[in-house]
Amino acid sequence: MGLIVQKFGGSSVADAEKIFNVAGRVTDAYNAGNQVVVVVSAQGDTTDDLIEKANEINPNHSKREMDVLLSVGEQITISLLAMALEKLGYPVISLTGWQVAMHTDRNNMNARIKHIDTQRLQSELDQKKIVIVAGFQGINRYNDITTLGRGGSDTTAVALAAALNADLCEIYTDVDGVYTTDPRIVKNAKKLKDISYDEMLELASLGANVLHNRSVELAKKYNVALEVKSSFEKIEGTKVREVGNVEKMLVRGVTRDNNVARISVVGINDTPGKAYMLFNLMAKYNINVDVILQSIGREGTKDISFTVPRDHVEEALQILNEQIENLEAKEIKHADNVSKVSIVGAGMASNPGVAAKMFEALYEAQINIHMIATSEIKVSVLIDEKNAEKAVAAIHDKFFNN
Ligand code: ADP
Ligand code: ASP
Ligand code: MG
Repeated sequence: MGLIVQKFGGSSVADAEKIFNVAGRVTDAYNAGNQVVVVVSAQGDTTDDLIEKANEINPNHSKREMDVLLSVGEQITISLLAMALEKLGYPVISLTGWQVAMHTDRNNMNARIKHIDTQRLQSELDQKKIVIVAGFQGINRYNDITTLGRGGSDTTAVALAAALNADLCEIYTDVDGVYTTDPRIVKNAKKLKDISYDEMLELASLGANVLHNRSVELAKKYNVALEVKSSFEKIEGTKVREVGNVEKMLVRGVTRDNNVARISVVGINDTPGKAYMLFNLMAKYNINVDVILQSIGREGTKDISFTVPRDHVEEALQILNEQIENLEAKEIKHADNVSKVSIVGAGMASNPGVAAKMFEALYEAQINIHMIATSEIKVSVLIDEKNAEKAVAAIHDKFFNN
């Protein structure tokens, strides 16, 4: 007995039958004597459909109005699930982000949770109610609606678990756990029994969308016991927790991220301060820079290449072209058709052969590498997008089927 936060993603609540399936999961936990807070996402493709509707009317819409629109999806699901539970005879109440109140910063469409008032939640729980909260949404300090970025309902759930000091946060989805790679791409991907916060954070940040990366960040920070499991099958999932007794494996997962683009600033003067000027510009406009490569200076000039999220490439190019004279660069080039493929594993820090093994897999598959980046627990390569799935399969095969 305790307090459990359960989160159900879009495909788990897609229709009436699935909503009743979720209701079953919720009442199981409630009947076992737990206090239950449920977080739900918008049904099926609702969020994508809303985005499409907005673009039909005005592709240059403001982020504020987009958030007013996007928050509707989750509001539909909370009411429907509450009605299902009412039908089954359970005491229940649904709450939107502002009713909770889930306070965020002002960054529309990618807001961060700042704090959560738990008073209302607590009083509903004290009245023995099942509390259903709309995922992915909050309010800023002007009481305007914000959303947390795609996939953000996971973050709502973990933030609630942290704020309420829950005993467990269960993320129910359409796969039965976290796998060594996306099981929809690689059929023989293996399910992990458990994974450390740091490894899961890297996987999520590098493209494994099974968990929103900020949810993992929060879970680590507040030591929330997190489990990813199936909405449909009653089997054990994957536990995300502090290292210690996690399975010993050199590499834990392979991911790919197609939301990347490469920018090359060609022929910059080979003098001190140019990298500073360049990346300071990107920082000033809040553009995340990832893999960076600088060529050796030749005849007084050098090239600097780096990656940015693909949805920011136009903005980055505009800024750089405006500053091309200050940068003393000859040309700004870019490529959109690239993909970042990564391996993640805490064990690789002390094992020098891991990167070579990844490159061997790529060589055997005859896939060319454009850029490489490494950290203590990951190796990423930038390759042509058309080769991404083949690369993931080849690398996965090398590490997990040999
Ligand atoms: P939800 O709507 O429940 O939030 P998501 O689509 O956001 O579900 O996340 C689940 C999906 O994540 C799975 O269907 C799977 O295709 C994908 N995925 C990507 N990488 C992995 C991985 N390493 N392990 C499990 N699932 C993964
Ligand atoms: N409905 C939102 C999305 O599709 C949030 C979520 O599903 O977590 O991104
Ligand atoms: Mg998700």
